[in-house]
Amino acid sequence: MKSFSSHDSIHFDSSRTGNLATASQSVPYHSPYVIDAQRLTRVYRSPAGNTYALRGVTLRVKQGEFLAIMGSSGSGKSTLMSILGCLDTATSGSYYLEGEDIKTKTDDELASIRATRIGFVFQSFNLLPRISVIRNVMLPLLYTACPVRERIPRARAALRAVSIDEKLFDHMSNELSGGQVQRVAIARALVNSPALILADEPTGNLDSETTDQVLSSFESLHRAGRTIVLITHESDVASRADRCVYIKDGCLYDSVAAMHNARKVV
Ligand code: ADP
Ligand code: MG
Repeated sequence: MKSFSSHDSIHFDSSRTGNLATASQSVPYHSPYVIDAQRLTRVYRSPAGNTYALRGVTLRVKQGEFLAIMGSSGSGKSTLMSILGCLDTATSGSYYLEGEDIKTKTDDELASIRATRIGFVFQSFNLLPRISVIRNVMLPLLYTACPVRERIPRARAALRAVSIDEKLFDHMSNELSGGQVQRVAIARALVNSPALILADEPTGNLDSETTDQVLSSFESLHRAGRTIVLITHESDVASRADRCVYIKDGCLYDSVAAMHNARKVV
């Protein structure tokens, strides 16, 4: 796989991967943690009873980390991703994103944070099928202050960063293979130079060869200094990250041993 080159970074990466002075224009102070979440809980209430999806999750992720969150179905992974991605709010606990208290934000501010500071990658790729690859990647830039003349260069740089061949840039996205589509979705997630890339089961629909290509893209972005949180139920996917934490029944553990010990106590 092609790694992320300094040439690419000139076009769209300088505010997040080294030049902190640029990033400071929009961020009041530099917490060493992109994610600083303390004792998060999330209770889904319904007439049938309450579901305690998160039971006091504490998680810190430093700038530039590539973290995997691993857990089986129903363990609380997507609930946690929704809170970290500012798509949902915790029932209790605190969440600071780049040093900013998410609890103090209005709905409009949260929408702006999602649009500019978080790049989402989902299991179902959510590309628009009948517009070109490059236009799909440019879409998030329509919701930001990115000058029109910079949109195409940024989208091209993002596509190169995930090793999409230039010949495919003007193809319709429904003409690509599953692995290519997911890499385009990753390019779309990083085109805004987000503080954080959040991926929820991004290889869940892919065979092992295309899974490897997609994970190589994440590894390459990690080497370029990106902060990535990848959620998965597969241990071989999680093993590609440089740190892994484990979630079970809404509790987070640093190791499999810690998770097993907790089960013995209960
Ligand atoms: P995972 O992504 O690990 O499969 P989820 O976060 O989707 O887990 O779900 C954790 C728990 O919360 C499960 O018991 C699930 O049934 C429940 N849950 C998730 N979303 C909702 C919801 N909107 N309303 C009620 N219960 C929910
Ligand atoms: Mg899920």
